[in-house]
Amino acid sequence: MRAELEKIIGAAALDERAVRDLWPLTIMAERAGSPSPRVLVARPSGRDQVVEILRWASAHGVIVTPLGGGSGVCGALGPQVGELVIDMGAFDRVLEVDETNLTCTCEAGVNGLALEERLNGLGLTLGHFPSSLPGTTVGGLCATRSSGQESTRYGSIEDMVMGLAVVLPDGTYAAPRPGPRSAVGPALHELWLGSEGALGVMLGAVLRVHRLPESVVGRGYGFADLGSGLEAMRSIMQAGIRPLVMRLYDPADAAFNGYDLPIGACLLVVATAGRDRVAASEADVVKSIASSATELGEEPWQRWQRHRFDLSAQRLKSLLEPPSSYVDTIELAASWTALPDLYVRVWTAISDGGLALCHFSHAYEQGCCAYFSFAGSRETEDEARSAYSRAWEGTMTAALELGATISHHHGTGQARARWVADEMGGWMSVWKSVRRAIDPAGIMNPRALGGAR
Ligand SMILES: Cc1cc2nc3c(=O)[nH]c(=O)nc-3n(C[C@H](O)[C@H](O)[C@H](O)COP(=O)(O)OP(=O)(O)OC[C@H]3O[C@@H](n4cnc5c(N)ncnc54)[C@H](O)[C@@H]3O)c2cc1C
Repeated sequence: MRAELEKIIGAAALDERAVRDLWPLTIMAERAGSPSPRVLVARPSGRDQVVEILRWASAHGVIVTPLGGGSGVCGALGPQVGELVIDMGAFDRVLEVDETNLTCTCEAGVNGLALEERLNGLGLTLGHFPSSLPGTTVGGLCATRSSGQESTRYGSIEDMVMGLAVVLPDGTYAAPRPGPRSAVGPALHELWLGSEGALGVMLGAVLRVHRLPESVVGRGYGFADLGSGLEAMRSIMQAGIRPLVMRLYDPADAAFNGYDLPIGACLLVVATAGRDRVAASEADVVKSIASSATELGEEPWQRWQRHRFDLSAQRLKSLLEPPSSYVDTIELAASWTALPDLYVRVWTAISDGGLALCHFSHAYEQGCCAYFSFAGSRETEDEARSAYSRAWEGTMTAALELGATISHHHGTGQARARWVADEMGGWMSVWKSVRRAIDPAGIMNPRALGGAR
């Protein structure tokens, strides 16, 4: 395999190493003495090379997984010996920022934070802030259907992508389609948003960008209980306000983050943004909606800003260092009416003798995301793995029974593979047909969305 690939991209663009993402089960397995295998990694530097590699892989039935920043948390990256990884790191150019039409054209390997900083220098923002931003690439953000901390105002990745440049497994190139919107058929490129490397390799994207807001007004509110906090979030969204940030922390998560509230109270952090007068008057509307809460001033907002990227890849890895420990996060989304039951069911499933936290964010008029964190430790690695698996099992079951989605933004990978068909139902048949049609040789990532075809 190596010799043939050398002919396509040269020896210097090939190496062998272990490739995996940050799925806690893989990290736990490595900790317990099962290292991830070393695999061949190709680092192409142009479209033609990607085309040639995929043509070659299709002809020889070699499994291919595209690699972005490796910050995924679901095991979508887990290549095995004999497979090939395509590292998109050399596709790192921002090709154009159009300051009049507010678009940005960039390659798939562009780092998420570097892109945001470049835009900020021009008074612009993509508005996409996953907590993992420094470790992400544009390709990975698209392939996982990601969502960031400011999604309530700017939307998630599907709201930002106007077009994609992709190479199909047979080497066909498809360019971004024109226009701010098009009715020339379905937006087929959207199939790649959440495809987890199953449909080919994304080379780049055309993204919508925004002017940075003139001002931001952020405040915290203490609610006596979770129900009244969720009601306030719903009312804010349904009043037509789109806060830059809106997060409701349950009592445990508020305490974990160092907020000092009365026992049982929840913390809502809300920031409105825009022209000075708009941000200020929307903040006033938020305040009136939150009239039953205790106003906590700007400090909770300032504190949140200081710590917004604290949960880094490094921190996740260090939390998983102690033998027989487990840590993970699970993000679901449900309607406003389903959220209270979902919260109770999931909290019960994940809190078995360990830490259980929840915050609500990524709000819509129809509902929002419930983001759970859990951690614990056991006597042995096997027991830790069992406790971890029980938490997942209970959470996925609760989500499916209550009509919630099993993932709001992390995607599925291996972590959710066995529940994907339960959520998708008949759409699984559509997905499998699409996958077979686009990748008849079956070479693309077998750990994507429900597993191999
Ligand atoms: C601490 C921490 C916090 C996080 N917070 C968030 C968050 O707030 N919101 C959120 O949405 N996610 C979050 N994540 C998850 C993760 O950062 C996202 O899933 C991110 O989008 C992955 O991007 P990446 O470039 O690292 O992709 P990778 O992990 O490299 O790859 C992810 C998937 O995309 C595929 N892929 C990558 N590049 C391409 C390409 N060019 N073409 C085709 N397929 C490709 C891969 O094959 C793989 O299946 C967090 C992760 C960590 C560790």
